Amino acid sequence: MQLEIRKLDDDEMEFVLSGSNPAFANSLRRVAMREVPIMAIDEVEFKTNDSAMYDEIIAHRLALVPLRTPIKGYNLPTECSCQEGRCPKCGVELTLKKEGPTTVTSGDLKSSDDEVKPVSDSIPITRLGRGQKLELTAIARLGLGKEHTKWQPGIVTYKYMPVLEFDEKTCNACGECVKACPKNILEVVNDKIMVKDPTLCTLCKACIEACSNDAVKVSGDSTKFIFRAESSGALSPDQLILQATKVLEDKFEEFSKLANKL
Ligand SMILES: [Zn+2]
Repeated sequence: MQLEIRKLDDDEMEFVLSGSNPAFANSLRRVAMREVPIMAIDEVEFKTNDSAMYDEIIAHRLALVPLRTPIKGYNLPTECSCQEGRCPKCGVELTLKKEGPTTVTSGDLKSSDDEVKPVSDSIPITRLGRGQKLELTAIARLGLGKEHTKWQPGIVTYKYMPVLEFDEKTCNACGECVKACPKNILEVVNDKIMVKDPTLCTLCKACIEACSNDAVKVSGDSTKFIFRAESSGALSPDQLILQATKVLEDKFEEFSKLANKL
């Protein structure tokens, strides 16, 4: 198995995984989106809400505000000894107090933990007119994407590495496929068709249709995958993938413990 990182920034990562198989690639993708725990607002207590929005709508909007999540330090409420999801080991309190006229944004949430706070301060929550007040206390907890989208740490996708083959006997390098390719990844070099960057190929097969000699073959390599991870900002994209491998590791460890008892 080989890993080549092609791009890594604050919220996006692209890498090529080689020498693997679709079962492994798909396990990694599914676990990254559904089973890596992150923080999200899970409960809101309203003291005052004079805004035009119902409490439920504001609570729902608050829940969808991505919160930065430290890798360690918090328990999943189901695994915490308090059993209530309210102790400092499994819950973070965020308070909000505003008076209109103003637009209340995610930046108005004051967190009890500096490491758990909104990824962006400019997400609008509601508007308050003159004299209207909004005061609330929210509790953020760890959770999993398979329970609710608010706990989904990002989007992870992959595609098979495209393989473009040109039959040397029948290809006369007429260049029709070069013109047909919407991604512009083909070129004629020394009377041969060359592929500039196969990773940009979308497997649209326009080159096959354009070739009157049937000299082009396009397929996907099922042992090589181009992965793209886009994070909500709760975790960095590389941490998202690393945490996913940790979850997979824990699952196999549990399985092997059970298997040893047989
Ligand atoms: Zn607890």
